[in-house]
This record gives sequence, structure tokens and C-alpha cells, in this order.
Amino acid sequence: MSELSFGTSYLQEAFGSAWTWIFLILILGLLIWLAFIVRRLLKIKDHQGNKIKKLESDLESWHRDGLTGLLSRRMFMEQAKHMFGIVYRHLFEKDGERRKTDTQVTGGDGESNPLALVGREMSIAFFDIDHFKRVNDTYGHLIGDVVLTKIGEIINSHVRHGDLAGRYGGEEFLVALSSDVFGAQAFIRRIRKDVSKTTFKANDGTEFQITLSGGLIQLTSAKQTLKSLIDNADKLLYQAKENGRNRYVMLECDGPTEHTD
Ligand code: GH3
Ligand code: MG
Ligand code: MG
Repeated sequence: MSELSFGTSYLQEAFGSAWTWIFLILILGLLIWLAFIVRRLLKIKDHQGNKIKKLESDLESWHRDGLTGLLSRRMFMEQAKHMFGIVYRHLFEKDGERRKTDTQVTGGDGESNPLALVGREMSIAFFDIDHFKRVNDTYGHLIGDVVLTKIGEIINSHVRHGDLAGRYGGEEFLVALSSDVFGAQAFIRRIRKDVSKTTFKANDGTEFQITLSGGLIQLTSAKQTLKSLIDNADKLLYQAKENGRNRYVMLECDGPTEHTD
């Protein structure tokens, strides 16, 4: 009898511990499964995070030029169209009717111009690095990139709230200013002054400088469009190049004038 009870309790113990083991194995399995699920969820989160980062960086490069930090050409044009629309309506349309056909480029002080209020005028400054191909050919493309980056910094440091600055092409920059052409002149003067004070260094230690040429024009006629303003600023820039570079040509009421300051 005592042998029988010993056998039963031994069996119960063995049976009981088997359930404990099964229970522990099930808990372990559950934990492994949970860890697997958490890992998968984290992976999905990471993947989504990377996707969002990529979308953000795509959006940023859609908006901004990576080298200069200026607006991309596409973004510049979008925003400049908007700016042009507002200023054009202010200058030439009222309640759907034509207000004036022409306004005038009047003077450098802004006071004599009745439209010299922020956001009520628009000028375009188109400028381009002189002989930039030579910089690349002589010092290498990477040094060329350093030059572009620095020009971007200089431009960015002078644009004001309400102005738009974009990299229009390789070494061409377009700035839409909420000012008359004399405001644009003050702007290009500041840029050219900073550029003239900047010395670049090539890999072999050679120091060099660069110059800019520009064309400036103001929205003064109801016949103008954003495209015609940019095309005409480009023509004035071309004139500055033709006349020897390192200068800008601006369209005043009596016609184009050339400046080297
Ligand atoms: P000009 O005075 O008439 O403007 O002459 P230029 O040499 O500046 O003009 P050109 O149009 O002949 O050459 C422009 C050069 O700009 C050629 C091109 O390789 C270079 N360029 C365009 N984009 C970049 C860029 O992102 N980085 C570098 N390093 N060079 C660029
Ligand atoms: Mg050039
Ligand atoms: Mg060019």
C-alpha cells in the first residue's frame, strides 16, 4: 500500500512538472511570437520613417537647389507667377477693369514713385557668373561648386522678406524683388560688392576671384508678362556680357543704362 502511494505521488509529481514545462514552453513561445511581431512592427515603422524622410528630401529638392540653397527654377517660377499676379493686379487692374496701362520708373529715392510700397512693385534681377566655364576648366568642377555655394550664400544674405531668389540655370540666378528697379539696383550692388570682397582658393592654393554680370528690369507696363520680364532681363544681361562683363544693365524710363558699381 505504501509502495502504491509512493508510486502515485511520484507520478503526480512527474505529471505536475510536465504541465509546468508545457506551460513554460507555451509562455516562451508566446514571448518569441510577441518579439517577432514587435520586430516586424518596428521594421514597418522604420520603413515608413525612411519613406517619409525620402519624400521630405524629394520635396526639399523640388523646392530648393541643393548646392546654393536658393529656390529651384520650378519653385521660383511658381512663386514668381504668384507675385507677378498680385503686383500686376495692384498696378493695372481694379475691380476687373484696367487701371493704368503704364506706370513709370521715376527715381532712385522711391519717395517720388507713388507705387513704392512693399509688395506693390516688382523687379527682376537676372545675373550670371562671368567666365564660369574657365573656373571649372582651370580649378576643377568641385571648386566650381564651392563658388556656386558661396554665391548662393551671398544672395541669401541679401534677399528680404517678400523677395524670391532662385538658381535659374547652371550659373545663372534670378531674383524677383518687391521693389522698383532702383531697389533692384541697390540689391545687385550689395551682391557685387560682397562678391568683389570674396577670394576663392583652388586645391593648389591659388587664389582667384570672380565677377558677376546682370540685367535689371521693373514691371511697368500692362503689356508685360512674367516671361517677357525675364526674357528682357536676360537681354539686358546679354548686353552687359557683350559690353565687357563685370557690370549690369538696367532698364530705366529713358532706356537701358550700364553700371559697373
Ligand atoms: P559667360 O561669362 O558668357 O557667362 O561665360 P561662362 O563660361 O560663365 O558661361 P558658359 O555658359 O559658357 O558656361 C557655364 C558653365 O557652368 C558650364 C557648366 O559646366 C558650368 N556649370 C553649370 N552648372 C554647374 C554646376 O552645378 N557646377 C559646376 N561646377 N559647374 C556648373
Ligand atoms: Mg556665366
Ligand atoms: Mg550662363
